[in-house]
Amino acid sequence: MEQRINIGRNKRNNVFIDYGKVSGNHCVIKKNGSEYIIEDLNSSNGVFLEGKRIKQAYVKADSVLKLSDFEVNVTLLLSLFDMPKIPIGMSYEQLLKREGDLRKKQEEEKKKESIKEEFLKLEEVYNQYIKDKKKIRRGDSIKKTGFRALLLLIPFVGNALGAFFSGATNKTQDKLIDREEIYKTEYICPICSKYMHESFINIKKSGKCPRCNKQLM
Ligand SMILES: [Zn+2]
Repeated sequence: MEQRINIGRNKRNNVFIDYGKVSGNHCVIKKNGSEYIIEDLNSSNGVFLEGKRIKQAYVKADSVLKLSDFEVNVTLLLSLFDMPKIPIGMSYEQLLKREGDLRKKQEEEKKKESIKEEFLKLEEVYNQYIKDKKKIRRGDSIKKTGFRALLLLIPFVGNALGAFFSGATNKTQDKLIDREEIYKTEYICPICSKYMHESFINIKKSGKCPRCNKQLM
């Protein structure tokens, strides 16, 4: 069946344009396979394609189309052919609003997707921090074991070594603190940019930032 979109000032058209210079039944766009043909329905003020008055012509999504001096967006009109059922009595303003709503929805989806992507990257940040922390502590415990063995062998230098050993522990603490500082600047919420003080698994489970409570995935 041939699909068509009737356009005019009359509300019984598929798309109506509430503008005095547009005729009640101004024109029709017919779909013929992948081609679209526009036809002037004897309007008073004419149909202009690329600035030329036409009676009937092929029209494309990027064509410049005017009904009298009212410019219409052809892409939007043609998008109606993709709807399950072509509406009747849709105002041109509604058509513009529909386009705006669709675009907004698309942008929101895109934003959600990129937040999720950013959040998922934090798994690596979290795991690396836990790994590094263990490494720093392990380094310290190897030193401790080594020193204890030495202390047992030569008890008379115990004091000097004891001081050295506590120095090593302080260094470990410094290293842990330094590492934590970096972690706290990296393990941040993609929305509120605050440090998230919970394990990656827990945040992933809830799907929400523990600081701003917003949905991350
Ligand atoms: Zn947040």
